[in-house]
Amino acid sequence: MDWCMATLERAGPCDSLPCGGGSERTNETRELWVGDALAENCAVETYMNPSGSGEPITEHTPTDRVIAWTLERFARQRWMMTTSFGMEGCALIDMYARLDVPVTVVYLDTMFFFPETHELRDRLVERYPHVDFVNRGTTMTPEQQAEIHGGELWKTNPDLCCKLRKVDPMAVVMRDVDVWVTGLRRSQSPSRAGLNLVEWDWRYEVLKVSPLFKWERTDVWDYVQANDVPYNKLHEQGYPTVGCTHCTAPVLGSKPGDYSRDGRWIESGKTECGLHGGDGI
Ligand code: SF4
Repeated sequence: MDWCMATLERAGPCDSLPCGGGSERTNETRELWVGDALAENCAVETYMNPSGSGEPITEHTPTDRVIAWTLERFARQRWMMTTSFGMEGCALIDMYARLDVPVTVVYLDTMFFFPETHELRDRLVERYPHVDFVNRGTTMTPEQQAEIHGGELWKTNPDLCCKLRKVDPMAVVMRDVDVWVTGLRRSQSPSRAGLNLVEWDWRYEVLKVSPLFKWERTDVWDYVQANDVPYNKLHEQGYPTVGCTHCTAPVLGSKPGDYSRDGRWIESGKTECGLHGGDGI
């Protein structure tokens, strides 16, 4: 096996990067990691576990072990999970919650959530009492947005709408974070196909860890069913994913175990909100 643990190095100052530079974050976290590209069979790192033996963490490491590793490895760093209450996020919350450790899960309420999404949040809060669900969504009301930017911004300029209600609020969250745990999967969309278990997120300048990166939606659905994990009831009504009310539509024939982003931004051709790169912003 090739060992790919290395220091991430970028030529030039930070202001040459997509993040725009200016961050005062230390490079302590970034310098620990390969970052952008981990080749097949390369180890993320050889982790010295508490018993003192080296354990390679690779893209083939079982997900439950990856999750335990993140808790041990980043215990002294500022890490948190985010969710948009998709099925993947619900499964991941369950995986962390069953380890009985305090976990913070941040979500961004856009003020355009479906009632079913709020209802799901309430069920998750009840099911996982030691998980701290924190809303860090925008404080700009829809009325204020309409006053400043015009009505129905999600139609006239959906990228700006997502920036105001998702991307910018997330930037505020990420100022206080070193490690960002997500429920992203490679097969969710072409723009996520290159996702790695661990990678440096240049937009927010944090280490991004995606334990489900190799899972398929059927794997997620199987897990959710096997473990009685709460999920959004809209998945049973033809919604493969659930975002804002204005930009999410059901997909004909879609069942809970199916995944596609066909029901998102169907009027604009937009495919990503911009939180995870892609063509959203
Ligand atoms: S998904 Fe639609 S309504 Fe929600 S923030 Fe983006 S453009 Fe606005």
